[in-house]
Amino acid sequence: MALRPYIVGNWKMHGTRAMLSEARAIDRAAERLLKAEVALAPPYTLIHATRKEATLIGVGAQDCHAAEGGAHTGDISAAMLKDAGAGFVIVGHSERRADHGETDAVVKAKAEAALGAGLSAIVCVGETEAERDAGKAEAVVSAQLEGSLPTGDGAAEKVTVAYEPVWAIGTGRTPTVEDVGAMHRSIRQTLERIYGEAGAQVRILYGGSVKPDNAAELLAADEVGGALVGGASLTAEQFLGIIVAAAELGEH
Ligand code: PEP
Repeated sequence: MALRPYIVGNWKMHGTRAMLSEARAIDRAAERLLKAEVALAPPYTLIHATRKEATLIGVGAQDCHAAEGGAHTGDISAAMLKDAGAGFVIVGHSERRADHGETDAVVKAKAEAALGAGLSAIVCVGETEAERDAGKAEAVVSAQLEGSLPTGDGAAEKVTVAYEPVWAIGTGRTPTVEDVGAMHRSIRQTLERIYGEAGAQVRILYGGSVKPDNAAELLAADEVGGALVGGASLTAEQFLGIIVAAAELGEH
């Protein structure tokens, strides 16, 4: 585990201004727990307000369009997100890949747009249950990385990978710690193939049903540099349980 685990909350399509109190509580606690780096990705509508309310944690978005601007009704560009106060954007989440038909090429274009606008990118990958059962999990994830990661000067320094097995998201099921470690080692190899030496420094987060009671063991698995958290990031109480576990690991 890297010295400072990175714990990112993905609020998905949850949250109105009433939820800013949770962001404030998370931010206040993060101030005491400096051994972990904490960030939230609220819905677009709350990015600016969250940035204003929270002083210490990172604030980001859950998606962006690949274009700089233009006739794309309902979409939002990376530069607009930056203007609203975002520092990063999640791209390629499995819900976007499934609900919006996003291909690896689309995800890569979005990640490159994010970097071009001065944001960092969290690129999500992960296999389905059928792919794991067929023994193809590592091959599927490796192909997703090859197709989705941004390239170009300095890309590796601005990218985080989130490994999120599709079957573990929101289900309460998780892979074994051994399986998480094996997948993260495989992802590291792919990153080094793509980015050379710089691939050794890219953070790899685990995501999928991380909760306060399983965070410590999942975060301690090989090559896990933090967590992308959905459901358990919606309340400060739950999210803080995960941040505390991460901060304890960050001290070793
Ligand atoms: C996610 O959607 O990125 C996620 C990991 O969700 P959950 O923690 O709810 O499984």
